[in-house]
Amino acid sequence: MRTKLPGEPGVKNAGRTDEKTAEAEVLMDKKYQCPICRTDFSSKGLKQGKAVNAGVDIDLFVRYKNIDAVKYRVISCPKCGYTAMDTDFMMINKHEAVALKKQLILKAGDLYEANDFRSFEEALALYRSALRCSLIKQGKYSERANIALNTAWLLRKWREKGGIYNVQTEPENEKKYLNHALKNFKEAEKLESFPIRNMSPVTFSYLMAALCYETGSNKEAYAYLIKVLSDNQAEKRIRIMAEELKEKIR
Ligand SMILES: [Zn+2]
Repeated sequence: MRTKLPGEPGVKNAGRTDEKTAEAEVLMDKKYQCPICRTDFSSKGLKQGKAVNAGVDIDLFVRYKNIDAVKYRVISCPKCGYTAMDTDFMMINKHEAVALKKQLILKAGDLYEANDFRSFEEALALYRSALRCSLIKQGKYSERANIALNTAWLLRKWREKGGIYNVQTEPENEKKYLNHALKNFKEAEKLESFPIRNMSPVTFSYLMAALCYETGSNKEAYAYLIKVLSDNQAEKRIRIMAEELKEKIR
């Protein structure tokens, strides 16, 4: 029997010690109170000013040199299992809380040590849990789109770190989540008002163009890019990215 490689199922902790040491420099414990069951707990989040920026992908995925920050964007209550992205965790209304309380049934052993250092596998399980909670509370389309987009980014980083033997990190799986993000952002565009996920209409159109391009709809991507490039209010950074994307589509 051959030895399993890092990233394969069953090799959860390979290389974790070095990674933990590096992550400890950048992460701190942040305190939360669960809005569903009122349990106090802490979860790891970025220390301000410690993550070193390493550029932005075509779909606005911000990279850092010293941390895979995308692993730590989900907060999960260790008691009731309520899970959401950091920006949404406390943003919950009465009706949503009632819906979640009814349906959050934890089975012993289901939860990872969510609030300590995380492997990619653990982070993926948390994103899935966040998506499930968003569906239960009938959250906004843009929230689901954002969870799917961050899940795609997580899988991208996981693959880059050598998870090639893992079915989760195959490019097709990342594409599935990008498609899911695109589909839900399209609904959000029809039903929600700007700013959507803190994005202006121009930034939103640029992101849609990028997602269309990444999922193989160049014609649609082009239509979104025209919106960006014909808008006088477009900030310079987005305009430059839109010009670059247009070159790729040609
Ligand atoms: Zn809770």
